[in-house]
Amino acid sequence: MPVDECESLLPEKAAPVVYLVIPCYNEEEVLPETARQLTEQLSLLVKDGAASPLSRMLFVDDGSRDRTWEIISSLSGENEFVCGLKLAHNRGHQNALLAGLMEARKHAGCAISLDADLQDDISVLPQFLQKFREGCDVVYGVRSSRKTDSFFKRATAQGFYRFMRALGVDVVYNHADYRLMSRRALDALSEYKEVNLFLRGIVPLIGYRSDYVTYERHERFAGESKYPLKKMLSFALDGITSFSVKPLKIISNLGILLSVLSVAGLLYALISYFCGDTVVGWTAIVCSIWLLGGIQLLCIGVVGGYVGKIYSEVKARPRFRIEERRGNMETEKPASCGKDTLDQEKEKM
Ligand code: UDP
Ligand code: MG
Repeated sequence: MPVDECESLLPEKAAPVVYLVIPCYNEEEVLPETARQLTEQLSLLVKDGAASPLSRMLFVDDGSRDRTWEIISSLSGENEFVCGLKLAHNRGHQNALLAGLMEARKHAGCAISLDADLQDDISVLPQFLQKFREGCDVVYGVRSSRKTDSFFKRATAQGFYRFMRALGVDVVYNHADYRLMSRRALDALSEYKEVNLFLRGIVPLIGYRSDYVTYERHERFAGESKYPLKKMLSFALDGITSFSVKPLKIISNLGILLSVLSVAGLLYALISYFCGDTVVGWTAIVCSIWLLGGIQLLCIGVVGGYVGKIYSEVKARPRFRIEERRGNMETEKPASCGKDTLDQEKEKM
């Protein structure tokens, strides 16, 4: 049977299998409440025929040191919607998210990623699915305002988006990682093998039809942010150096500018020498030594940052390792042709 015909028989055309992918790091305080609220939402979606009963919440434990995994395990025993993945180490939010998305890709028609702390407004989930039904492969959750942020976080975050844009990186303004991706988009995502992951930069590169849903971001329900200032800055820097080589160009231009200025400085020094005025100018020399030394070190640091990235990309170490799985992640079988047959046919193409 041709693949297209076979795909048209997939029941998920009517109600897609939706996977909510939730990375969790030391989230014991929020998990029970998050699972409760998401179960409510998912049950409504299933009841309204917007999601298949095989839809799931997939909690990814990113090597937590508290009771996060025990809670996920026990929830998966009592709630059929709950599934869990346990990573062997703490690999960071982006890798944990990727692990969940790659697992969801095996079972779901679409996956929606969201934080464990209920900051992302889950009442807009039906809007995500509506856009998916209308044919979007990627739906971005975009914050309607940043009222709940501190002044500092708001200013730095907005500065970051502007800076990224100025460097020519296509990022969606005020969008973090609350987004829907269709299976096709997840397949495309699986082809991006980079180790330095910055998903909100990669997803726009996929290029399928996309749209956005606006939502109000709440305060964290409980517990503390796992993104302190230091981690946030290194994440922002990672985003810049993973997607733009403009800083290297800026360095070269700075080098050219300084060389031109130093010729002028040389001329000045020579003229001063011939005028017998050499002691004067000590301050200028000392200042320029410090200034140039600083600029050189900074530039070497930026170049070193890129070299370091090449180093980790070349090694191509696994981005995550799954230690355990919990819950019942079934794959929906099409009515008249098994998924295996479908996969085999796709492989032949
Ligand atoms: N997270 C993770 N691994 C980490 C750090 C964070 O999986 O190493 C998860 C965390 O549990 C949460 C999400 O990533 O679900 C976003 O983190 P958080 O809410 O602390 O960040 P913020 O919203 O404060 O920027
Ligand atoms: Mg949060």
